Formats: sequence, C-alpha cells, structure tokens
Amino acid sequence: MMAVDGMQSDDARVSHVLRLLEAVKDPEIPDVSVVELGMIASVAIEAGVVIVEMTPTFTACPAIAMIQAGIASAVRAGGFDDVDVRIVYDPPWTTDRITEVGLKKLKAFGLAVPGKMCGRSVEPKDLVSVACPFCDSTDTVLESAFGPTLCRAIHYCDTCHQSFEQMKPVT
Ligand SMILES: [Zn+2]
Repeated sequence: MMAVDGMQSDDARVSHVLRLLEAVKDPEIPDVSVVELGMIASVAIEAGVVIVEMTPTFTACPAIAMIQAGIASAVRAGGFDDVDVRIVYDPPWTTDRITEVGLKKLKAFGLAVPGKMCGRSVEPKDLVSVACPFCDSTDTVLESAFGPTLCRAIHYCDTCHQSFEQMKPVT
C-alpha cells in the first residue's frame, strides 16, 4: 500500500512508538527507560491498535501497573489513540536484557549492576564482593540481601565508606 500524505507506514509508526517509550521510566529508577531496562518485548500495530508487550523486570516489584499505565499514556500522548499494553512473562526478563546504555545509567544512579549471567543460575557469590558503583572497589560487604525492594540488596563499601544498592542478578 502506498503511503499517503500524513500517514506513516507501520514500520515507521513502530519506530515512533519505541522513541516514545524511551521517555517511560521505571519509577524506582527514574533515569533509565523501560527500553533500556529491556522490558519491552515487542511493539506491533494491528488494525490501528498499538500493541506493546512488556516483560516486568521483577514479578515481585509493585511498579508493574504504574509502568503499564505510563507506557499507555506516553503512546497516547504521541498521537496514537488505541493502545493495548500487555504483560508477558515468556520469555522471562533477565538482567542480561538491560542495554549497555541502561547499565551505564544504573551505575551512574549509584546502583551496582550485575554482570552478564548468560543463563547461569544466580549463586551466593553474586551477592558478595560486588563492585562499588562509586569507586569500583570490590572491598565491599553485603549488609542486607533485601533492600527497599526485593529486587535490590544493600552493600557497604569499605574503600569509600558508602552504602550502595545492588540490582540483583536475575536469570
Ligand atoms: Zn566505594
């Protein structure tokens, strides 16, 4: 079908939606977009309806409904009237899905970020000697396996004497 004036192809509209999603943040990590967190499983346009599939980062995190609403309102504000934000769990989200830009922003936010897990299971060692996001020292101790949210652990850095949170690895 030929594009007519003022109409975008579906591909162009999907790209447009992805740009809109760059403005949607996890309320707990306000600097990082849902795209950078690897939460957007797919974007499609079917019969004029924008369908966004999102994979929650942590099923225990209470922010899912807020993020879902944030995605819908960002897409609507971008000029799309019909938006359907679906939550999918398969394939599951893992910390490996966070983009390089997302990892850098998490670190700048003061969150220690997990290394690539490549499908291996999380082991106790993943929660100890975690590199400090402020000074990169691994002379750190685990203070609490459960921080303000279940997804985060709290560590203390013996080098720069600051507490920091770690985004726990998820595979
Ligand atoms: Zn430090």
